[in-house]
Amino acid sequence: MENVLISNLQRFSTKDGPGIRTTVFFKGCPLRCKWCHNPETHLASMEIMYNRENCTLCGRCVVACPEGAITIENNTVITDTDKCTSCHKCTEECYYNAREISGKALTFDEICDVLERDIPFYSESGGGVTFSGGECLMFPEMLTRLLKFCKARRIHTAVDTSGFAAWEVFQKILPYTDLFLYDIKAFSSSLHKEITGVENTLIWENLEKLSKIGANVNLRLPVIEGCNGDLADIEETARCSAEFGIKKVNILPYHDMGKYKYTKLGRDYDSNSMSTPSDEKLEEIKRIFAKYLFTDIKIGG
Ligand code: SF4
Ligand code: SF4
Repeated sequence: MENVLISNLQRFSTKDGPGIRTTVFFKGCPLRCKWCHNPETHLASMEIMYNRENCTLCGRCVVACPEGAITIENNTVITDTDKCTSCHKCTEECYYNAREISGKALTFDEICDVLERDIPFYSESGGGVTFSGGECLMFPEMLTRLLKFCKARRIHTAVDTSGFAAWEVFQKILPYTDLFLYDIKAFSSSLHKEITGVENTLIWENLEKLSKIGANVNLRLPVIEGCNGDLADIEETARCSAEFGIKKVNILPYHDMGKYKYTKLGRDYDSNSMSTPSDEKLEEIKRIFAKYLFTDIKIGG
């Protein structure tokens, strides 16, 4: 694989593992979580994000495009995605934040250049590099090469995953991964399918295997009222993961800060059926994990 589609390379992140980190967001995901705040990472292909409300129809993007991919018709900007090479020249010329391109094809060397820049910050803060998405395990070859690159430079590595991948992929990356940030969205498989589009048998199997071989796992539990806020299901998650010997969990209350991205992508977002859990509910969830002897329980990333 010569290059891979990246939706964002976020430097100075403090939400994706310990210390100051650079987070690599791969583009492409096998899940479709109803609340996902990064919908621009779903497809493993380049996508145009366009906000007509912000667009002044100035035409700068039309002039900037070297491929002649952009036209203005009926007071809206149209992009011929077959012609677009994802060069981002149009977005650089858009002064009104009306146009973004999600997905840039980057080579291994281009990604490594960015990861290397902040080594002093990683060292001072106890940080490192986090590979996320989308689902980074969809890209095992590039992911393994990048993890090896980090380990060769003594950079701490974290893999943020839904767990929905073949065990062979985990085996490939295990020697180079210091920490797994492992999302659990439901204990019940039917509920999981309803809210993410896939069943979770594989996810729980992989979690058990990771635990058995002593991998460093930090659970991440998004809590969305209207989706997975059932306390009985959450208690089963706590009980089962405690049986596997897991001690760390981040409880992540729902927010709708990604809602505007759905508008830009021209997709529906069912905000009416989802809401943020109350502080009391979050405290109750903390108590549940404490009951199962979790020692590191945090609300937030
Ligand atoms: S440059 Fe931006 S504001 Fe101007 S026409 Fe293109 S999308 Fe609209
Ligand atoms: S990303 Fe490049 S090729 Fe694609 S529409 Fe914009 S300017 Fe044209």
